Amino acid sequence: MVRTMIRGKYVLLKADLEGNSELIEDGAVVQDSGTIIETGPYSELNGKYPGTKTIGTGEQFVIPGLINAHHHGRGIASGLLMGQTDGHLETWIHRGWGKRPLDPYLMSMGTLMQQIQSGTTTIMFNQTAGPVSQIQTEANKTLQAFGDIGVRVAFSIAFRNQSFLVYGDTDAFLDSIDPELAGRARDKVNSTVIDFEEYWDFTKKLNDRYQENDKVKILLSPQAYHWVDEKTLGEIGDLSRSNNMGIHLHMVETMYQRLYSERINNETPVSRLNKLGMLGPEVSFAHGVWLTQDDLDLMAATGTSISHNPSSNLRLSSGIAPVTEMLKRKVVVGIGTDSAGINDNDDLLQEMGLALRLHRPPGHYNKSISADEILHMATIGGSKVTTFGESIGTLEAGTKADIVLIDWNRITRSYISEDLPPLEALVSRARKDDVQTVMIDGDVVYDNGLFTNIDRDKIYEEISLELSSPTPTAVFEDRDLANQLDPHIREYYADWKLESDQSYQFNGLN
Ligand SMILES: [Zn+2]
Repeated sequence: MVRTMIRGKYVLLKADLEGNSELIEDGAVVQDSGTIIETGPYSELNGKYPGTKTIGTGEQFVIPGLINAHHHGRGIASGLLMGQTDGHLETWIHRGWGKRPLDPYLMSMGTLMQQIQSGTTTIMFNQTAGPVSQIQTEANKTLQAFGDIGVRVAFSIAFRNQSFLVYGDTDAFLDSIDPELAGRARDKVNSTVIDFEEYWDFTKKLNDRYQENDKVKILLSPQAYHWVDEKTLGEIGDLSRSNNMGIHLHMVETMYQRLYSERINNETPVSRLNKLGMLGPEVSFAHGVWLTQDDLDLMAATGTSISHNPSSNLRLSSGIAPVTEMLKRKVVVGIGTDSAGINDNDDLLQEMGLALRLHRPPGHYNKSISADEILHMATIGGSKVTTFGESIGTLEAGTKADIVLIDWNRITRSYISEDLPPLEALVSRARKDDVQTVMIDGDVVYDNGLFTNIDRDKIYEEISLELSSPTPTAVFEDRDLANQLDPHIREYYADWKLESDQSYQFNGLN
């Protein structure tokens, strides 16, 4: 029995979408062996639990652990640092082939350290598609890193079996370009393909392995509607129901992804998924920039949730997702960094601040997003997206002791008006450097710059050492291949346009 008391100048017990978030001044949370047993005024709990070790001096803002609802890894060795500058997703994604390889354990440790430092205690981790031997090694090492550092994870491996280079027929696209270039592209594509049976076999084994581990959820992940054929999508829906597993997939991240379905089906991908029985409370989307009003209604009716990834959508020219419209319909929304934070780090606090400022549509008749809503997205919203449900996301008796202490004096130095709502100040100003202490499952995993479960400096040294060797030739070949394909991919989409003629479109509502 390891009992501790966490004390805060403010303690956010539960974020509320309607602005009625539960906040206690000079409050405390008592946890025992990883589960919260009581919350209330510090003076009261201090009298009731005398001698309990107390974390926090009463000068911190105590919040539930934040939840990153969509992420892929990389972090410290980001695509940008590997030479993959921002650009439109359809060509950017292939330039990702030219990233230098890095041991998945070190890669995960790099990103997990950054995320813990920003108060993140649970992550929706979507591993990139690849050949079976590679995805198995990567998954095992990634999950090992999560276990070693102590972060909660909803883990999935992306699966795709079509539209490898453009949204449409891969062979027809390759037949339309120079045969020598097509041959190289075909070899590259073939090296990333996996049979669905192999994918499911490995995913099922992972799911069995982590059944008893309440810090790990294994999910299914068709990478996106356009990347998986409808027969397999239907199978994934069936497997999800029969095995009680969640599904996480990218959804209309760019306008081309919506146009792909509209061109072949005359309806949106969300509408198709609905017909395939692939929507529901166990299903979450990432992005959703180009959702229509009807799509949003379907999501609300079926309980399908979504991760909002504002930085990534800006960096990859995807647009701005219609988040206020989602919230208006009570669609559950989480928030994620998608390995592409606005400053190329994994600072979820910063992502929250960006989202707060991004959703301020012109016109007094339009509602802007509130600090309460942002905090709800980063906690309770994320708990639903990641399928952990009510076990995390709030500080209440019975929930997991995932708790973050943020230095209030740092956020407000040197003065704060007494009538500024504390939640407004928190979401507007807190960044990762303000995080003091992070507790997951009752264990302090980060305290005043130090990680308790791992040797940060040793991990940084190992990453530097691995990347100090000369860049492998294959990396340059992959970069060259992506660059040569670039104009052909742009040409493929030349006449893919939305009906409206705006030159500066931010989302797909119509
Ligand atoms: Zn993503």
